[in-house]
Amino acid sequence: MRTPPPTPAPPRGSQRKRRKPAPGSRQGPLSSSQSSASVVLARHYLSQRPLRVTCQNGRIASIEQLAEATPTDHWIAPGLLDLQINGYAGVDFQAEVVSLDALLTAARGLRRAGCTRFLATLVTDAWERMLDKLGRLRALRNRSPELTAAIAGWHIEGPFLSEQPGYCGAHDPGCMCDPLPERIRQLRAAAGNDLLLLTLAPERRGAIEAIALAISLGIRISLGHTNASAERISEAIEAGASGFTHLGNGCPQTLDRHDNILWRVLESSGLTVSMIPDGRHVSPPLFRLAHRLLPSGALVYITDAMAAAGAPPGRYALGKMQLEVGDDQVVRMPGQPYYAGSALRPLDGVWRAAAMTRTPWPRAWWRFSQRPAQWLGLPTGLAVGQRADFCLLKQTGNEMPSRVRVFCGGEEAGPILSRCARSSREIRRIEASSHGAPARPRDGTGRRRQVWFDDGGPRRSGR
Ligand SMILES: [Zn+2]
Repeated sequence: MRTPPPTPAPPRGSQRKRRKPAPGSRQGPLSSSQSSASVVLARHYLSQRPLRVTCQNGRIASIEQLAEATPTDHWIAPGLLDLQINGYAGVDFQAEVVSLDALLTAARGLRRAGCTRFLATLVTDAWERMLDKLGRLRALRNRSPELTAAIAGWHIEGPFLSEQPGYCGAHDPGCMCDPLPERIRQLRAAAGNDLLLLTLAPERRGAIEAIALAISLGIRISLGHTNASAERISEAIEAGASGFTHLGNGCPQTLDRHDNILWRVLESSGLTVSMIPDGRHVSPPLFRLAHRLLPSGALVYITDAMAAAGAPPGRYALGKMQLEVGDDQVVRMPGQPYYAGSALRPLDGVWRAAAMTRTPWPRAWWRFSQRPAQWLGLPTGLAVGQRADFCLLKQTGNEMPSRVRVFCGGEEAGPILSRCARSSREIRRIEASSHGAPARPRDGTGRRRQVWFDDGGPRRSGR
């Protein structure tokens, strides 16, 4: 934790101005260099240990552990990492034309929702058009240091998906095709050396061979929009597939109770499973059950957000589709029950996940930041030499955080709408309106013990 800071990165234009000090911090020059620096005193969100984190030139220069009794009501956590962002703040990544300013608007909107990194996601379209879009977005990203830091890679969801009703979700079956080896190679070429996550249905012809090829080219494979048999899922895992995309979605509303894609995935092992923690894409009971059945490190959260996220309810585009978004932040195809992405803000996802699982927010935060980063081999944040991308949460006692501030490259992004209490209320409302009564807390008092865990993964407190 006390390794010397790396060679400072050159300051971006916006970093030249003097920063406001963060709460629980003091500001002052720490070296003879001209750049400003800030020092943050806060407890680590997992270990609970008080830390002094020094930021310099947009990076974490040092992390020092302080005495346990050091007074602070601030907590420091890495910025959220969302693996599935189709658009945000009115910007649709699927559009034929996306400007640099539009991409920046989306990235800044996400930042104001706690999300400092994301995988820009492209959904099913004609294959050549998908490659073109990827090339154009990538060129824009490479023109901007701000976007290069924010867009950690690309998530290609389709076109190698199930065409069956329900399983295809909002994807156009007419554009779907098989994952031929040359398509996998074309995809790798279009993305250069960038991080690539590809969601495919393993029942497609040639999919197992395609998975093995993709893995050899450094592409991560997540299964999704699939009705593959248990045997086929096992073959896919053996070939190198390591994820499952938005469990509970990308499947029909009604499933065979004896055998369905949910049971097959929950019974499998070796997959990192993403879920949308809004209480609607997956019901709270199913959400909790998945947490009980899957190993603690096997669940990560995504928003699957589209243009309507971070924007008011209304009609928004997702590629060629016009979609409706209501007050419930769910995106639907007009006149159909199928969900087509969400308008969930990442930060709201943390609060809703914590409310549904009835555990303190750090557990949910971990599944929305460090855990997905570990899965994809990305830097996991809060380490010396990493970009100073983190959130500061003000929390008194066992209350939920009352205030969140987001820092990107040491710069504060704001203003932040925490909406912590509102998110918890929304989950209570969803639970109360469901067919079954919500499960009672185990001790029957309505109170639960705090549960914390270390960087290595969740653990229960001593008693
Ligand atoms: Zn999907």
